[in-house]
Amino acid sequence: MRLLLLGAPGVGKGTQARKLVDTFNIPQISTGDMLREAIKKNSPLGIEAKTYMDDGRLVPDGLIISLVEERLKAGDAQKGFILDGFPRTLPQAEALENSLHKMQIKLDAVIDFNVPYKNLVERLANRLVCRSCGTVYNVVTHPPKKEKICDVCAGEIYQRSDDTREAIENRLKVYEHETAPLRNFYKSLGKLTYLNGERSEEQVYDDIMAIIRPPKK
Ligand code: ADP
Ligand code: ZN
Repeated sequence: MRLLLLGAPGVGKGTQARKLVDTFNIPQISTGDMLREAIKKNSPLGIEAKTYMDDGRLVPDGLIISLVEERLKAGDAQKGFILDGFPRTLPQAEALENSLHKMQIKLDAVIDFNVPYKNLVERLANRLVCRSCGTVYNVVTHPPKKEKICDVCAGEIYQRSDDTREAIENRLKVYEHETAPLRNFYKSLGKLTYLNGERSEEQVYDDIMAIIRPPKK
């Protein structure tokens, strides 16, 4: 199974990607997570990426494209993968098509998550994330049982440094300008499927399963 999850920050791509990892036993390839790992390690990539990320700007295409090209070659990605947060620009999408073509593989589906703008701002501003396992919480709608402690792994829960009002607004603007045009790119390849992201986690998951496993006629 080779899936691409498309949609603005906060639509729930990461949450669903984690569920799909468990179902299909294939890796989630999240460029955001990979960059945050690089920052944690203080690698040259991390140091460069942080300056962009904290302002809610995109990291330059060249850095991201080589990062993903390498990742797609890894052993665990050979039986499938879930792309989350990549591609985010037309050059990235074209580079991905190129890589897939070289590897003689194709995406099975591109799922376009949709949530109204004002709800995205709320979701992101109220978002908390577990530092250890990545579980996503929401201060209002889905708080952890114990303050600052993950229900799943007891890890520390924190707020991402780009989940400030200012960076959020920037990220949503960048999404509209740079990433939303990818819908037409994948539509013209006949791969795009619309998904309503404004439903419960379970309902969204069921919708995704219906998209990738269409009922037999
Ligand atoms: P979100 O989707 O909530 O904005 P991500 O974790 O996917 O969060 O990305 C966080 C930041 O990492 C982005 O704002 C951007 O700076 C950088 N980033 C992640 N993926 C890409 C990408 N494919 N191209 C450029 N920058 C990226
Ligand atoms: Zn956790």
